[in-house]
Amino acid sequence: MTDTPLGFDTLQIHAGARPDPATGARQVPIYQTTAYVFRDADHAAALFNLQEVGYIYSRLTNPTVAALQERVATLEGGAGAVCCSSGHAAQIMALFPLMTPGDNVIVSTRLYGGSITQFSNTIKRFGWSATFVDFDDLDAVEAASDAKTKAIFCESISNPGGYLTDIPAIAKIADTIGVPLIVDNTLASPYLCKPIEMGATLVVHSMTKYLTGNGTVTGGVVVDSGNFDWSASDKFPSLSQPEPAYHGLKFHETFGNLAFTFHGIAIGLRDLGMTLNPQAAHYTLMGIETLSLRMQRHVENAVKVANWLEQDPRVDFVTYAGLASSPYADRAAKIYPKGAGALFAFAVKGGYEACVKLVDSVEIFSHVANLGDTRSLIIHSASTTHRQLTPEQQDAAGAGANMVRLSIGIEDADDLIRDLDQALAKATG
Ligand SMILES: *Cc1c(COP(=O)(O)O)cnc(C)c1O
Repeated sequence: MTDTPLGFDTLQIHAGARPDPATGARQVPIYQTTAYVFRDADHAAALFNLQEVGYIYSRLTNPTVAALQERVATLEGGAGAVCCSSGHAAQIMALFPLMTPGDNVIVSTRLYGGSITQFSNTIKRFGWSATFVDFDDLDAVEAASDAKTKAIFCESISNPGGYLTDIPAIAKIADTIGVPLIVDNTLASPYLCKPIEMGATLVVHSMTKYLTGNGTVTGGVVVDSGNFDWSASDKFPSLSQPEPAYHGLKFHETFGNLAFTFHGIAIGLRDLGMTLNPQAAHYTLMGIETLSLRMQRHVENAVKVANWLEQDPRVDFVTYAGLASSPYADRAAKIYPKGAGALFAFAVKGGYEACVKLVDSVEIFSHVANLGDTRSLIIHSASTTHRQLTPEQQDAAGAGANMVRLSIGIEDADDLIRDLDQALAKATG
């Protein structure tokens, strides 16, 4: 073959997968094993010294998980990736090599509800803090930084509000400050958005959602672009200086553009233990094989359903960035040309009561706290996923009391519209 780079549809099936060296198995086997036999004592020592890459113990590395890591890294255009047990684990794993007690991260106000809780409360236990900023106010993002700022964090397409982040503009600010931009690309998937091409350093995913795509797995991943110079300042000693947790190893000097990935495995997974199991990795590999096809259909259906809802007199407004009426329509066309995802919210006339009745009346939509499934899903965020937030935080996140969130699946769009029509009749009638 020529040197022409392979297309996305080819890579989503082939990247990271080769016939099994032992059996020739074409599909990636599930290596359901905890440990791996060393060839001899020298081999064991070389593995523990990170002088040779191989398998020691499945908390650190596993061949099925490694295939998935290579596949996601390839699709995102990264140098390496580390899988972990959930999307939330991925967020901690992304921050862990960067932060020490007293450090802070600048975070978008428009985030998944669980991420707002994680950043505003839980990370304080590590001595870290988050400064929440409206990421449409670029001056405010830059002004929020200080000497202790170690990262900027946002979602590409945000949950649940139909908001799209201007990633190139935020990446420029991260460069100015000299810190990595971390983008949660869960709602876009690498098919709709490639944050690394727009200047992001790290990409995290909840693989629980579109990457697996069928509601069977809880998993996460951190992808490193390999582009950040960890030694350019003294901000990131765990990567640039001798790391006491690995007998004084200097990760950046030793591993170059794979420093962050090796740190994530050798220290992050080793000591935090947020490991993805091989069975889950297998399901996610299966899911990714059809990612582009599913995302095209998810977007096509979301556009149809959102346009129908916007015309409906029982609906006040629809926050979908894929609508011509969205304030983010220009940004969508420029930065997310393949579509603005398939998750959005809409305001029901009749407020909280009507929303609760609506979620109790749907028949095809499932009332669940999940998204990115082949099935269409519905939830009233204010009484569920965003319940722990203040009313102000709920509004900022697009999850007010009158808002219902939809994750549009890949069923027949006409069936989805008929289901919403009958449920809206019961809710508002
Ligand atoms: C679901 C989700 C998470 C958390 O992922 P888990 O796999 O549930 O831990 C983080 N970010 C976004 C955007 C999500 O949708």
